[in-house]
Amino acid sequence: MATNLLDFDLEGLVAYCEQLGEKRFRATQLFRWIHQRGISDFSLMSDLAKSLREKLAARAVVQVLPVVSTHESADGTIKWLFDVGQGDAVEAVFIPESDRGTLCVSSQAGCAVGCRFCSTGHQGFSRNLSTAEILAQLWYAEHFLRRHLGVDERVISNVVMMGMGEPLQNYDALVPALRTMLDDHGYGLSRRRVTVSTSGVVPMMDRLATDCPVALAVSLHAPSDVLRDSLVPLNRKYPLAELLDACLRYLPTAPRDFVTFEYCMLDGLNDTDAHADELIALIRHHPHTLDQRKGVPCKFNLIPFNPFPASGLLRSPADRVTNYAQKLSDAGIVTTVRKTRGDDIDAACGQLAGEVKDRTHVTHRIQIQRQKMPITASGARYHD
Ligand code: SAH
Ligand code: SF4
Repeated sequence: MATNLLDFDLEGLVAYCEQLGEKRFRATQLFRWIHQRGISDFSLMSDLAKSLREKLAARAVVQVLPVVSTHESADGTIKWLFDVGQGDAVEAVFIPESDRGTLCVSSQAGCAVGCRFCSTGHQGFSRNLSTAEILAQLWYAEHFLRRHLGVDERVISNVVMMGMGEPLQNYDALVPALRTMLDDHGYGLSRRRVTVSTSGVVPMMDRLATDCPVALAVSLHAPSDVLRDSLVPLNRKYPLAELLDACLRYLPTAPRDFVTFEYCMLDGLNDTDAHADELIALIRHHPHTLDQRKGVPCKFNLIPFNPFPASGLLRSPADRVTNYAQKLSDAGIVTTVRKTRGDDIDAACGQLAGEVKDRTHVTHRIQIQRQKMPITASGARYHD
């Protein structure tokens, strides 16, 4: 089977090219053609020797993912559904803002963590994505958007691993993908603008701190172990005290000096004044093992729950979310409320369905999609 070059970070591609008797700078050129210019056809890589192009064509491919559908929301959010085979599909979502363009990327088909409030969790786990399948989402979105905006420069400035799946349960595929996002010869993203979001896989947080420190978001959702056990089953394995310790260990090598805690606002379950008080105490009084202070340096991002019927849960009313945010802010914790984007196209957090229900129609839908391709991508250009 042909080797998919999207599976390699730059060092991996260098090693691969060396096996073919090619020097390092050739691998760099090839990497730039693939990721910076979005070229998958070796014959178009005009500064590579013809002999190398032929060698590559005989044994390698740049295999991207078929797009099942593209939806653009009234607010400019774009959601792509990618077919990853065997009836599974994953989604990536582009969120344009005035000062940045963020792509939300999936790491797994389904998820094994099984959080109560998450539709991906309710689907169960299908499989890990490969590095190539993670990067194919970025490759496709970036080059699609450049074509449609008619620009040569980068459109996606931020990546958040907040699509389907638990990225730290797919660690080996994740790290080369992150390195490619960060690489100046790849997507050249700043470490501060690449965020891994985790439900709290403690040992892998430690490894990430060493192997590829990027911005960290931790899905907290509850101020106590009893409640978190019932919302995020992984808490039974890595309870809050251990999770907060892992956050503190992560920070010294992290590109930011705080952790972002995500907190999904669930009506009556985790959104009362008593929950806010308990949360403030948890964060403020956690012993800081690395210096003499107490507390965990953090920001909170409150996410109004996006309901789906199987969850049996409801979104907190807007005034309760505001009140909760105010209480945290009053306690000196920087808190934002996430604006829900793209909910008219089911692209909001936890709404990523991702199952190709009727596989027989996939090819047909891909064809229709190709015919419909030129969609209008609104949005500005983004710079660091
Ligand atoms: N598995 C990782 C990353 C993907 S989920 C994690 O859990 O962090 C990305 C974010 O969306 C998480 O903070 C998750 O808790 C949140 N989320 C999941 N389902 C949601 C829903 N129905 N409404 C609002 N946020 C949700
Ligand atoms: Fe998995 Fe994250 Fe959903 Fe939990 S919230 S089930 S960890 S994708």
